[in-house]
Amino acid sequence: MYTLSNAPIGDFGGRKPRFSRGGPSRGTAPRGGRNDSRSDSRGGSSRQPSNGRSGGGFRGGNGGGGRGGRKFSGDRIDISKFINRAETVVEEVFTPNHTFNDFKIDSKLKDNIAKKGYVIPSPIQDQTIPYVIDGRDIIGLANTGTGKTAAFLIPTINKILKDKKHKAIIITPTRELALQIQKECMDLTKMLGIFNVTCVGGAPIRAQMKNLEHTHHIVIGTPGRLKDLLDRKKLDISDVKTVILDEADRMLDMGFIDDVRYFLREIPTERQMLLFSATMAKEIEALVHQFLKNPVKISVKTRDTSKNVDQDVVRVTDKTKKLEVLSEMLRTKDFSRVLIFVETKRSVDRLHDELFDRGFKVGSIHGDREHRQRQAALAAFSTGSSQVLIATDVAARGLDISGVTHVINYEIPSSYETYVHRIGRTGRGSNKGIALTFV
Ligand code: AMP
Repeated sequence: MYTLSNAPIGDFGGRKPRFSRGGPSRGTAPRGGRNDSRSDSRGGSSRQPSNGRSGGGFRGGNGGGGRGGRKFSGDRIDISKFINRAETVVEEVFTPNHTFNDFKIDSKLKDNIAKKGYVIPSPIQDQTIPYVIDGRDIIGLANTGTGKTAAFLIPTINKILKDKKHKAIIITPTRELALQIQKECMDLTKMLGIFNVTCVGGAPIRAQMKNLEHTHHIVIGTPGRLKDLLDRKKLDISDVKTVILDEADRMLDMGFIDDVRYFLREIPTERQMLLFSATMAKEIEALVHQFLKNPVKISVKTRDTSKNVDQDVVRVTDKTKKLEVLSEMLRTKDFSRVLIFVETKRSVDRLHDELFDRGFKVGSIHGDREHRQRQAALAAFSTGSSQVLIATDVAARGLDISGVTHVINYEIPSSYETYVHRIGRTGRGSNKGIALTFV
């Protein structure tokens, strides 16, 4: 094990840290397109946009995951919370109560689940899917990377299969997350005649408007763009029967709550609502009950952060040494896919240039970068052509980037909740990961 938390201040240099873990890759770079022969002609907005300036832009002062990203000093977080050894105990084999076969879902959908390689339901899927099938409202809390997307997609797709007049809307705080959900949706709806349209900022709105004119059953989007389309009367949500808020606590905080209320006013009250999140602050949970009818709350969270993530701090008091310390880490063999978080767009750009000048293969994403650039940076990182991705909290939530070996908080996150989301990008599934926070 390494002992960075006890390392002499600013004295990383020369001491090779003993990090050993990495994770196998799971290629999940977002891509788009429809699932059948119609895809070429109609897939415009449900496919990854190929151009498009960042018209809608990523909102949020510092690129922090959308509007109203709260920015305050992270100084008040107890540093000991950033230190946590990954558990080395042999993990108990999870025994689900159901197999996918047990679920009362269409056999064609079961085929698509099998084609994705899902053999047993994850705990959140195991526990929520039967309730969703029964039509209940759900608050689903599970650690990041534990299969929440399929937990809401599988029963929703099944509902649509039963009645194609049924429509669902999935609202997420970030474009990347929307595209990731879209990818999973495409896989699970293959050959089922179920179509989705993805409506995110930064992508050309006209293509999305055109797609919305065609038959579609699932709309996936970010609040700003969805509202824009609604205001232009291009998006009709008057027949939506399922509303899904992914990263629900973020969707209901001050940045997005007004939009969510706005959407809900337009959607018939006879609806099913599914809220999924890795974290849910108490005040948000109180609010949630305004929107849900007699919800079932299912929490399969065992702790705030994944037990697969070794968490430690890197103490550097001499700020002039910080970059040196980071560079030395990045030259260490095990740091093969490293996601670095900083607080502001400017810090992203600065650190990007500094590491680039030092010869590292580095990409970056933040709210001011064009959608296309963000997608390219994510793709390069996922495929391993860049070793390092520097990001604001745009990348903190929900993103399933394959095999991230390390998450580095080069600056202390603004809240512990943000920290939890950031480090959830590593140690996903059964992989081990390492999270390091510069203090
Ligand atoms: P999510 O939490 O939805 O982002 O999912 C995290 C990862 O787990 C994704 O790569 C999914 O494809 C994968 N996944 C979801 N459900 C299952 C399952 N039942 N079995 C295996 N992998 C899964």
